[in-house]
Amino acid sequence: LPLVKASNSLSLSLQAKMSRPVQAQRLEGIDKNIWVEFVKLAANYSTVNLGQGFPDFPPPDFLKEALVRALSGENHMLHQYTRAFGHPPLVKILAQFFGKLLGRDLDPMTNVMVTVGAYQALFCCFQAFVEEGDEVIIIEPFFDCYEPMVKMAGGTPVFVPLRLKAPKDGKLISSADWQLDPTELASKFSEQTKAIVLNSPNNPLGKVFSRGELELIADLCVKHDVLCISDEVYEWLVYDGKEHIRIASLQGMWDRTVIIGSAGKTFSVTGWKVGWTVGPNRLLQHLRTVHQNSVYHCATVAQEAVAQGFQRELELYGKPDSYFIQLPKELQQKRDWLVQSLDAVGMKPIVPEGTYFLVADISGFKSDVPDVPDSDEPYDSRFAKWMVKNKGLAAIPLSAFYCGAHKNNYNHFIRFCFAKEEATLKAANDILQKWKQEKTSP
Ligand code: PMP
Repeated sequence: LPLVKASNSLSLSLQAKMSRPVQAQRLEGIDKNIWVEFVKLAANYSTVNLGQGFPDFPPPDFLKEALVRALSGENHMLHQYTRAFGHPPLVKILAQFFGKLLGRDLDPMTNVMVTVGAYQALFCCFQAFVEEGDEVIIIEPFFDCYEPMVKMAGGTPVFVPLRLKAPKDGKLISSADWQLDPTELASKFSEQTKAIVLNSPNNPLGKVFSRGELELIADLCVKHDVLCISDEVYEWLVYDGKEHIRIASLQGMWDRTVIIGSAGKTFSVTGWKVGWTVGPNRLLQHLRTVHQNSVYHCATVAQEAVAQGFQRELELYGKPDSYFIQLPKELQQKRDWLVQSLDAVGMKPIVPEGTYFLVADISGFKSDVPDVPDSDEPYDSRFAKWMVKNKGLAAIPLSAFYCGAHKNNYNHFIRFCFAKEEATLKAANDILQKWKQEKTSP
């Protein structure tokens, strides 16, 4: 008998080992993730982390206080489930706030849905709208998750790059110098195009799309009956008096656009993972289907605190005390500081019009990190790894924001995040200065 038992368990373990591939085919080729890789490197090596995009300064007091009130106040129901598609106080204030921005009446129950960060909002959009064989246009450089999310939904990403126009003599390059070629953009729209992803202000370049550029995209969307997934998580972070224009406010676009936002970026609380979508019910009803069958809802207390944050901002809208005025003011100073610091050492910065990112040209530092011809890994990726290991400074290679076929066309830039305390930026400056001195001293 024991012999029979032993042979049974042997065949079971053999079966376990010999099983067919466990992963679904849709996961093929999307297993690598730049954030997992570079966050680990930064944790292991960096003394100064300007890599992943999050503030290292505290969120505003009014928001922290709202969370404490939600946690320890009398309403213990805030520790329980709330409405699946958004805690009622939050969807109500979001409807009011965005209704004001868009100049239209919004229904909190059907025109707004709360998500687990903007990430889940994006995931819901691709799952809800993209079918096998559908094409989705993505403007490069792009927030990296768009590509795998389109693929996971069975769609085909179609890439169109922002192209660098020659800057005026002697001037620093601006993110505005990166532009779409209208003919090239138009050529990407086809019968198969289901949606375009727009990200303005754009991560990683910091480009704030102008009205003319948005009209170009809008006209093509209307002409080809295409949806627009508009990732506007950096909507309040615009500088030099620039205006963030919502594509949904342009003619013919409300009905075909989902606006995506993030409390993480809006109130400097990336760890809370509260995001939202705003749009017409004909689109949002399908996002609700994905949401109710996957995530269901996100933390009630965090939603309550974000609702209170928006309540405050509605009352202070356009006033100097508004966080939406204060934060970009502070960040613009930090941007200028980092621009100066990079320019002084010859790591040429591209001055961003928005977001809290800045892309810089590393060509002048090539002698320190020699190129390896025919390497599979883009040069900027090897440079960023070398920099974090040898200089203790973390940044993200720009090639991570391009599709596989285009990575090597844009492999001599790295992205820094400047939503950092003065001390962090100063420490980065010290590293760069010392590096520059080592380069110039015989
Ligand atoms: N979109 C863009 C353009 C982003 O940069 C980010 C975060 N880096 C997200 C979406 C995701 O936002 P959240 O943290 O709210 O999920």
